[in-house]
Amino acid sequence: LVDGVLDTLAVEASRKGLELIGFVEADVPHAVRGDPGRLRQVLVNLAANAVKFTPHGEVELRVMRDAPHDDRGLALRVEVRDTGIGIPPEKLGEIFDAFTQADSSTTRCYGGTGLGLAISRRLVGLMGGTMSVESTPGLGSRFWCTVPLGEAPPLAVMPRSPLAGLRVLVVDDNASARLTLVRMLQGHGMRAMPASS
Ligand code: ADP
Repeated sequence: LVDGVLDTLAVEASRKGLELIGFVEADVPHAVRGDPGRLRQVLVNLAANAVKFTPHGEVELRVMRDAPHDDRGLALRVEVRDTGIGIPPEKLGEIFDAFTQADSSTTRCYGGTGLGLAISRRLVGLMGGTMSVESTPGLGSRFWCTVPLGEAPPLAVMPRSPLAGLRVLVVDDNASARLTLVRMLQGHGMRAMPASS
């Protein structure tokens, strides 16, 4: 699902020269029970906003475990971080309201309806989760939602990766992408060494 969401934004991110990063932490189960259609709708909205409001830098979508919310026992936190224009503190409380944009010039510059976040927060609420934001004008924003999900029965026992133990040199000039790659490879048991050039 994370890869699919990022795929839909890859062309636009590349056109703007943005680094687009996706990372699922190694302790997130391979299969969970939830509503992928609605979750995709929320993630597409958050990630599309991040790309839209980021003139340069990076957009990262990250999935990690959250403390369990109820007896279903599993909650995931999905976070979209960008290095974009940010949102003024006095507007942070309003952007989840329907038809509200942080700045009246937003419509002129970026288009949009001001409905995406209102719908997303509603959907997350209906799934039993919450949505939050923190932002610094000029530096970027971080939106995250936590949703309780059922843990699906394992589809198959994951075999030990044939790549375990291999040494890998990871060369990437973007620090976030480099760290993500190293952690992905470590998740497969590889010994990754990062280099920026
Ligand atoms: P829309 O994107 O159609 O305007 P949304 O409800 O998705 O509507 O977002 C409401 C407003 O919140 C946006 O118009 C923008 O002002 C602000 N916003 C949302 N995401 C971001 C972001 N990642 N960076 C900066 N501003 C954002």
